[in-house]
Amino acid sequence: MPSSADVTRIRRIVDQIKRYDSSVKVTFVSGWQNRGGSFGRTPVGMIDHHDASASSSGTWGALGVVTSGRAGLPGPLSQFFVARGSTPQIAVVAAGVANHAGLGGPKIGVPRNSGNAYLYGTEKANNGTGERYSAASIHATEVLFAAVMKVIGQDAGHVVGHKEWAPTRKIDPTYDMGWMRGLVAKILRGEVGKDMELTDKVKLSNWACDQMGLKPGSKLSVAGVLAYAAAGGYRNAEDIDKILATLRDAIGSTEKTPRQALATAAGLHDNVLELQRQVQWLVDQEKARQAKESK
Ligand SMILES: [Zn+2]
Repeated sequence: MPSSADVTRIRRIVDQIKRYDSSVKVTFVSGWQNRGGSFGRTPVGMIDHHDASASSSGTWGALGVVTSGRAGLPGPLSQFFVARGSTPQIAVVAAGVANHAGLGGPKIGVPRNSGNAYLYGTEKANNGTGERYSAASIHATEVLFAAVMKVIGQDAGHVVGHKEWAPTRKIDPTYDMGWMRGLVAKILRGEVGKDMELTDKVKLSNWACDQMGLKPGSKLSVAGVLAYAAAGGYRNAEDIDKILATLRDAIGSTEKTPRQALATAAGLHDNVLELQRQVQWLVDQEKARQAKESK
């Protein structure tokens, strides 16, 4: 059974999630307060996982298995669960110790093969074999991890991937953990919700660099990303300027989050259609805002 301290700590984490971004939905799996063993200590970090559920398995993927366990591995299999789909949402599965780390380490001060006793775990609905994470899912993850680090008094360096804890056995999660720790560190520095300027630089995915004829690891301004996405890859400078001017009118400078979503998309997604979809979303948001104002 989790101790009352374990339950209180989870409640504080959920409060902190809401303070960072109240639009991140948090639900509780029934019985969460009684699920898992007592920690007997404050956990010192987080292991990031994917649940390997089929991409067709819906919003909550393998949440049932993560809650109850499977043959040979009793549940809970993590404390937290991040949904797939277009809404940032998290389920609290358990307040107590979960079976998620397995053999591995030592890492971040946690003794070898002792991950479960020292570390929280987060499972995310993702097939782990090429399914793209939605911007919403990444956002829920970064906010959750920041909230956990804040409450347990650790920095972003205490977020580790399962593939880092157990490199010979595990591949999860598929994205670069340095990148995820960077997102978490940004929130811990209080930069959540701040608008990005059109001149802010975005680190592009290698695919995007390749498409744009840039060296891997290149950075591009938000304006450049917008222009590229709007132009469908067209790179003539004059035309990009025209498109950007049109986009500036359409977007205005009022909306705080879409540019960040776009920047995330540019860094994360490997598909220009996704970038274009994000631009369309940006434009639609602004149209809706203007329609509301003119009423
Ligand atoms: Zn894992």
